[in-house]
Amino acid sequence: MDTALKKSLIEDCAKMIIAHADELTALDQAIGDGDHGVNMKRGFESILADADALAARPLPDMLKAIGTQLVMKVGGASGPLYGTLFLTLAKEISDQPTSENLKAAFAAAFEAVKARGKSDVGQKTMLDVFAPVLAAWDDRSGIAAHLSETARQAADATIPMKAIRGRASFLGDRSIGHMDPGARSSSLLIATIAKHFGA
Ligand code: ADP
Ligand code: MG
Repeated sequence: MDTALKKSLIEDCAKMIIAHADELTALDQAIGDGDHGVNMKRGFESILADADALAARPLPDMLKAIGTQLVMKVGGASGPLYGTLFLTLAKEISDQPTSENLKAAFAAAFEAVKARGKSDVGQKTMLDVFAPVLAAWDDRSGIAAHLSETARQAADATIPMKAIRGRASFLGDRSIGHMDPGARSSSLLIATIAKHFGA
């Protein structure tokens, strides 16, 4: 992966999150404490400011630095979870990844987030986006054309779910009827990454 591609990936992901910060805040206001947009914006602004230096690193180092920034800057529950995702990708991805390597790395990262969050699919979290995206990846080799649509639909599918993990779980049945903020931020990131690979 060349430096220019890495840089545009970083910039587009960061800009996507920053542009949707108000929406993420509104989602978190409905079923959480209203900080998800601000949290994610703070993390991705710091990553955006560092885009040139990050993109110049080999891919695993770049992912490790991004994971570390997310842990330090995002905070809340989602910072350590997104941090774990990127730090695991960093460990598993090679500098010139094949599509098989990418998928295996994402599968490992998904398991690491589950372990870190003591959470699983069906609990109205970001995992409810990662799981269907991983499953859709099985259908074809490489980044499947439908990954961004899968992610979008998976975020929508958290609306009728009852939250079992995270702050939203304190609301019990009142969490039903709202999209999970972390599922939405995950779907935005996945759609942006998928677009880069022609999906
Ligand atoms: P906080 O809940 O501490 O305010 P954020 O608002 O930044 O943190 O992030 C909330 C999001 O984090 C949720 O919408 C959900 O997707 C995700 N999340 C919270 N707890 C968990 C968990 N245990 N496992 C997986 N994801 C979680
Ligand atoms: Mg919150």
